[in-house]
Parts: sequence; structure tokens; C-alpha cells
Amino acid sequence: SVMPALLAAISTGARNGILLKGGVFLERLSEADAIAFDKTGTITCGKPEVTAAFVEKKDDNQQIFSVVAAIERQSNHPLANALVRYISNVEGITMAEVESIEDVTGYGVTAKVAGVRWAIGSNALMRQLRCETPVASSWLVQEQKWRAAGNTVVFVAKEKKIVAGFAIKDQVRADVRQTLAELRALGIQTVMITGDHEETAASIAGEAGIDEWISESLPEEKVLEVDKLKEKYQSVVMVGDGVNDAPALAKADIGIAMGSGTDVAIDTADVVLMKSELDKIRLALSLSKRMNRIVK
Ligand code: ADP
Ligand code: MG
Repeated sequence: SVMPALLAAISTGARNGILLKGGVFLERLSEADAIAFDKTGTITCGKPEVTAAFVEKKDDNQQIFSVVAAIERQSNHPLANALVRYISNVEGITMAEVESIEDVTGYGVTAKVAGVRWAIGSNALMRQLRCETPVASSWLVQEQKWRAAGNTVVFVAKEKKIVAGFAIKDQVRADVRQTLAELRALGIQTVMITGDHEETAASIAGEAGIDEWISESLPEEKVLEVDKLKEKYQSVVMVGDGVNDAPALAKADIGIAMGSGTDVAIDTADVVLMKSELDKIRLALSLSKRMNRIVK
């Protein structure tokens, strides 16, 4: 009968750190034919590290690092944390005083320090603000190579001139490749949605073994992408961790949050992976299949 099978499945899930907010989600999971994943913090560990730093004029190094650290200290974006951690290990850095700061969600930050305007963020932010690329710069030719290796490239502009850049790498979670291969074997389409640059997204998707990816998606666009997937697939699962993943988690047929995620994501989701292990999705699917077999 239904109840014992459902209770057994829910308790097996719980023992494995899968928190189900209702039996109906367990029932529906096995119908999934597409699973969309957020990149940062979901496919990757969410602990990016600076792998390379480039400054146009060596003499400006201290000043630029001081300003970047002072600005990014006020942001809680994972990339901001990586920059602050990296710069705090550099000798002779004094904290600059930030006059004003503005978040450009999905792009980066702009700020004013000692009357000077600074911008830190993506290529798209630099384009949007019409920042000049340094001429004959030796480091910019490497930009593509960094991205091809899965780095996110963050630029620093001072008064609309690009003066520095950082390559930042977030590792793909250990269990991802295996899990995605198993999902594919079940005939499920896997999709990654990210705000990051196309080349970085392609590299990470390749490392993780993801079928399809959507890059340079603004935080408020993630939910639209889930909508598009729902037109193409019968049942769409969304997996995410961030504040800006919450609308997409709600929109999907089933929303799954990482336990390491933000409270908003966890509250919005139907299922929570307490230990943030993606291979538990595979277990949840088989619990769902087994239960539906007994019930039907
Ligand atoms: P994701 O969806 O991959 O988590 P976001 O939408 O948060 O990415 O950000 C998209 C891009 O904007 C980042 O890859 C980065 O280039 C830039 N960005 C956003 N916030 C910051 C910040 N505080 N400092 C530097 N760059 C940032
Ligand atoms: Mg995320």
C-alpha cells in the first residue's frame, strides 16, 4: 500500500541527508526528463581561488590591490571573497577608504575611492561602462586561455581604463562527473545555467560532463530559462544554492537546494540535499522510481 512505501522512501532519504518537504515531490521526481543546475556553488564548490593576477603598470600594483580589497570586502559575492582572501596575503597592502559603492547585480561592482571611479567585474560590465582596453597589453592576450581552463576573468577599471585583471577558478565538485553520467544514462538532459562568460561556462560544462549550458544569464533571467526548458521538457528539476536561484527553484516542477546554500534557496526548494552532495539526486530518483512501482 501507499503509506508504508512512502514512509520507507522518505526515511531512507532522510538517513541519506535528503530532506523532502512532502511525499508528492518524491512521487514526481522520477518523471524528470531535464535537470538544470546553477554553476557557482552547485556544479562547483563555490570556493573560487585567484590563480593569476595581472596589473598593467607594475608601479600601480599596491594601489590597485588596496582599492580592490577595500571595495570587494563590502560584497559577499564568492568572487569578491576570493579577491579579498588573495590580496590579504600580499604584503604592504593598506586598506583604502571607499566613499560609495554600487552593486551591479550579475556584472560586478562600481565604487568611488578618493574621488576616483572604479569598476570591478565581468567583460560585459567593462563593455557596458565603455571602459578602454589597454593598448599593447601583454596580459590581455591570455584572457581566452584563462577561460578555456575554466577561470572566470574579473577586470578592474580606473576612470574607465582597464588597469588590472584576475583569473579566478572554482573547482568542479568531486561527485559531479559521475552523477551526470548516470543521469544521462537514465535519459535525462542536463543543463547548466550561469552568469559567467560563454568560454568559462563551456570549459566547466566540459569538465563536469554537462549536455547543454546557458551562459551570461542575468540573475533575474534564470527563471525565464527554466520556463523555456518547461516548454521543451515534460518535467524540469532545478538545482541551486543562491538567493538569485530561488525564483527558478520555485518555477521548476521540482526545486532542489544545496544544504550549503542560502536560506532563501533552502526555504523555496521542495527538496534539500543536506550535505550538498549531488550524487544524492541519483538516490532520490531511484527511491522515487521504487516507490512509484510499488504504488502503481
Ligand atoms: P554566477 O551565476 O556564475 O554565480 P553571477 O551572476 O553572480 O554569476 O555573476 C556574473 C559575473 O559577474 C561573474 O562571473 C563576474 O564576472 C561578475 N561579478 C559579479 N559580482 C562580482 C563582484 N562582486 N566582483 C567581481 N565580479 C563580479
Ligand atoms: Mg550559485
